[in-house]
Amino acid sequence: MTEYFKDLAPITFDGIDNNRPLVIAGPCSAESREQIFETARGVKAAGVGVFRAGIWKPRTKPGGFEGVGIRGLLWLAEVKRDLGLLTATEVATRDHVAAALDAGVDILWIGARTSANPFAMQDIANALQGHPEVTVLVKNPVNPDLELWIGALQRIYNAGVRRLGAIHRGFSTYGKHLYRNEPQWYIPIELHRRVPQLPILSDPSHMGGKRELIAPIAQQALDMDFAGLMIETHCNPDCALSDRDQQVTPEALNLILNTLVMRDKKQSTENLNLLRQQIDRCDNELLEVLSRRMRVSREIGQYKLEHNMSVVQAGRYSDIMADRLRLASEMGIGADCMQVIMQAIHEESVRQQIEIVNKA
Ligand code: PEP
Ligand code: MN
Repeated sequence: MTEYFKDLAPITFDGIDNNRPLVIAGPCSAESREQIFETARGVKAAGVGVFRAGIWKPRTKPGGFEGVGIRGLLWLAEVKRDLGLLTATEVATRDHVAAALDAGVDILWIGARTSANPFAMQDIANALQGHPEVTVLVKNPVNPDLELWIGALQRIYNAGVRRLGAIHRGFSTYGKHLYRNEPQWYIPIELHRRVPQLPILSDPSHMGGKRELIAPIAQQALDMDFAGLMIETHCNPDCALSDRDQQVTPEALNLILNTLVMRDKKQSTENLNLLRQQIDRCDNELLEVLSRRMRVSREIGQYKLEHNMSVVQAGRYSDIMADRLRLASEMGIGADCMQVIMQAIHEESVRQQIEIVNKA
């Protein structure tokens, strides 16, 4: 059986500060040679070492701007040659991979619609065989499915790619919300827990969907120790042919990057270790309380069994939920978070009670 991700290589590059989070910036889409060069010069002036541009654009509906195609790769190659920037583009098919590799693109990323599709992922993985030099970043699938994300990464790993990373770009939901794509932070956090050696970058542009959300999301990601950022940057965002509301000018990018608190990866960890010990103790207490709660819950299950009552009592559940949400909010814990916690605890209680009833 393959042991996945055991010999990943660090994603470092000559000529950039590898002790700082990796920053990738550039337009959502390559539109023209002028737009690419103007943006790339600005990105470089902002101190960013990797330039991104989408060449083939996966649009939700037909009729939108679907990218300039292969000629955009020539512009990326020129940017690399003339400005000394590393380059990155999205690939969605085996032909894209072949063309991008031919053009000397340094980083290939796989978009959220593609990483949700195992056939497409396998096709891309096959095309990557024999190219251990390339760096591949896999965006999370559009749906909040961690296993699907990990599976996509495993397919690329199986192809021999070791300079492998992930990009958290949020998850789509129905309707209008603050975020274009919900962060659901616990998913990348769980990915990090399962594969600690895998670098995860944050894409605040696609998560936020609006310029003003980029800085706060990016800061949150950096505070959580994400390995880097991908920020959509365009020399004239208001006229961009795709994702115009979320693209910033190179000047705004510069400001954002200068305002962000980037923690040095090598900083002293003494205080951090003390704080982490406290967290470990809190978690132990939480587990003890939870296990006590489950014991009581099983006793209730026994009582319900003896009195021929149903396990789930909807009225009681809503009362508990309302009460705990109120308490949580008094203690400064967000309602969304508390709701998820209470739901999970309730589901586990029900499961344990059903086990008692079934045994009888
Ligand atoms: C993009 O990076 O421009 C893009 C299409 O991203 P995503 O796959 O995250 O939607
Ligand atoms: Mn985009």
